[in-house]
Amino acid sequence: MQRLGVYTSGGDAPGMNACLRAVVRTALTNDLDVTGIRRGYEGMIEGDFVEMDRRSVSNIVQTGGTVLKSARSEEFMHEEGRAKAAQQLRQNKIDALVAIGGDGTFRGASKLHDEHEFPVVGAPGTIDNDLYGTDATIGYDTALNTAIENIDRVRDTADAHNRLFLVEVMGRDAGFIALNCGIGGGAELILIPETITEMDMVKERILSLMTAQRRSTIVVVAEGDELGGARGIEQALRDDPDFSDIDLRSTILGHTQRGGAPTASDRVLASRLGVAAVESLLDGHSDVMVGLVNGETKLTPLRNVYGRRKSIDYDLLKLTQILS
Ligand code: ATP
Repeated sequence: MQRLGVYTSGGDAPGMNACLRAVVRTALTNDLDVTGIRRGYEGMIEGDFVEMDRRSVSNIVQTGGTVLKSARSEEFMHEEGRAKAAQQLRQNKIDALVAIGGDGTFRGASKLHDEHEFPVVGAPGTIDNDLYGTDATIGYDTALNTAIENIDRVRDTADAHNRLFLVEVMGRDAGFIALNCGIGGGAELILIPETITEMDMVKERILSLMTAQRRSTIVVVAEGDELGGARGIEQALRDDPDFSDIDLRSTILGHTQRGGAPTASDRVLASRLGVAAVESLLDGHSDVMVGLVNGETKLTPLRNVYGRRKSIDYDLLKLTQILS
């Protein structure tokens, strides 16, 4: 292996830059050349490549987003698109890849490995924390802290007016952010995709808190919850005359959760995993993701990463019933 290619793909996550920096510097330290692939698989297909040196990753450990940019590529979903990408990689003498991204990125990387025998190691970069094979993903801790900071602000105004706030956080299929920021932010109710949410239960709980106990109430809901996120719940409550006296507001935190400087924890995680990804390739591993499990780096076949579901901590969920 002489030349390593590295790319960020899928949803951007704070800490991707710290990981990229670690990949580039570890590769250079091991006398490898490094090509940065811009805009994920889209850039790979188009040959949007840039030579990386130590300086090209200076001053990025602290920044959000990704200096290589990210994209979603429909063309790469098809065999012909992947064949074009493989041809670009070969023409540019790239021998192996580090993929920084989420579950879709790894599905694509695995196909590139199977169809074109490209050595590839993944590093988990996604705010959702929904990847099997690592205790935390790069970007999750930052997104969680951003969400908590916003919930604290919402709490101040909710309290001042005895309002009900529905706060929607990211998580289409996974409730890690909702569950943890709900507990950390003292939410009265947390609704996540992993559990069955019944509207009657939601209404009963809110009425008991707001009318019987006269408390301001915060409901944290993951965007993928089956009641339709904050908007879906708001509509159902507005349609119910029992809620006509309740001052109700919805806040969707949305993309604010993706941006911002990575937390210390994300920077360290990203740096460790970036180093470990390159070392794993040098040790001859491929078609695996490097994760951190119980404080140790661990390799998991990509197939298992996207084939298995990472479970939320159900004990944490029980905790809310006691704490709220
Ligand atoms: P996040 O979890 O933050 O959304 P992700 O990596 O899962 O990140 P996706 O948009 O799902 O983001 O995937 C990124 C890209 O990976 C897609 O745009 C597509 O090009 C490629 N990809 C996804 N799924 C597949 C697949 N089944 N086969 C081939 N390529 C895929």
